[in-house]
Amino acid sequence: MWDIVEGSSVWDRERLGSLDDFVRRLRDQLGLRLSLHVMSHTKTLDEDPAIYRRDQDGDIVLWRGLYTGGYICPASTTWQDLKVRRLSELLRSGVSFLMFDFHDYTVEGTDAGTSDEISRTACWSKDHGHSVPMSIEEHSAGVLEVIHRIKRAHPDVLIEAHDRIAGGLQDYLPLYYEHGRPDSFDEHWGFEYMWNSYLDLLSGKALSLYEYNLAYEIPLYLHINLAFDNENCLAFWWYASTCRHLGIGGVRPSDELWSAHRAAVERYHELKSLLASGRFVGVDVDLHIHTLPNEGRAVLLAFNRSSSERVLQRTFDASSIGIPENAVVEVEGLIVREGVAAASLSIPPLAPSFFPSSGTRIQLPYRLMALRRATTDDRHRGGRPRPPRVRCDRPRRHPLCGRRSGSAVPHRRAERLGRGPGIHGRLAAGPGRSRGRVGVRLRPEAARGSGVRPGRVSPGGEYWEF
Ligand SMILES: [Zn+2]
Repeated sequence: MWDIVEGSSVWDRERLGSLDDFVRRLRDQLGLRLSLHVMSHTKTLDEDPAIYRRDQDGDIVLWRGLYTGGYICPASTTWQDLKVRRLSELLRSGVSFLMFDFHDYTVEGTDAGTSDEISRTACWSKDHGHSVPMSIEEHSAGVLEVIHRIKRAHPDVLIEAHDRIAGGLQDYLPLYYEHGRPDSFDEHWGFEYMWNSYLDLLSGKALSLYEYNLAYEIPLYLHINLAFDNENCLAFWWYASTCRHLGIGGVRPSDELWSAHRAAVERYHELKSLLASGRFVGVDVDLHIHTLPNEGRAVLLAFNRSSSERVLQRTFDASSIGIPENAVVEVEGLIVREGVAAASLSIPPLAPSFFPSSGTRIQLPYRLMALRRATTDDRHRGGRPRPPRVRCDRPRRHPLCGRRSGSAVPHRRAERLGRGPGIHGRLAAGPGRSRGRVGVRLRPEAARGSGVRPGRVSPGGEYWEF
């Protein structure tokens, strides 16, 4: 809780100090930005009387149960003005993300999924400017109006909106409803898989996140309780793969799981642009691919949800992750031939698995393939692909390329120089490229006696082994 009363959206300065200082300390000491959980219904009855939902007798509809207070009426312009004014004040201090929650509503004769009988009491106020009683649509539109006004004034703020009728379960309004309109919300809530995220995965409930990603590109936000995760961080990676905006909590430095999750978070940072902004390719429920084709990057994330070790083998269309049709890739865990990719990953029980397994190698296959695509330079060369430049990184003179460590030479030139058809080395800087590790480009007959494992020759005569 950060506000003076939940639902008030007024920063609790007395307890937390000034908001400006709080935002500054988060940024300077932890490298974080500030997100706030914004409640619509409020725990106090002391606000302007015009903001509250009213029953047929004109009384405030009380909020009882998990919270106590008063339901608000989002169609009330008094509430809209008050909420916009208070949220704007927070945003001016540097808050960067707002999660809109607690705006459940229903009217008699509809089933909006709420079990709370009280919340079934509609707003009968004649002073709010809505139908009497207020319709579900008017309620939903009132919440969205606040979001619109906030977005117009603060276009950089990120907004997650829970279902504006059913709240956390996110299951009343169609998921696409009013997303993508100008100044609308950015993200959905991850279906409440926050309490025991590990059990939700093992029970199968949270597999719906995979289905969601097949259907929608609207980002999900979810914060998860890691206290029930295992030492392989299975739950962490499942939600990292299916929710583009992830919050975590539930473990402390003294907990057994702390170091494992700390390492997972470090790895998450390496992969974050892929997981948060990449294209999601669902091969099946246990094999997800995140790819940024324009950057030539991808990662495969596989899951073993069973209690015994298994080898996950799947094939998929290589072009679905940006691998050119004529490319040939043969690396441990992934083989690509004639446009078909075959993944084979051995996964311990109740664990995730990655391909590539090393964080620094995740870009390699795609960077190399990107080299073979026509570039502006190539067009000036009559459409012929520009040979990649390679730099030998062997410590001594290499038996095949004949070059010393650090020398850069186009491989075709190396062939002409009679120093063998194979190049072993590290990809050197070229136009728009930086680094990577090239294995061997070698025809089988040339490999004999070289001590280098031969590769297969693709139809295009090029072969890259990593
Ligand atoms: Zn009302």
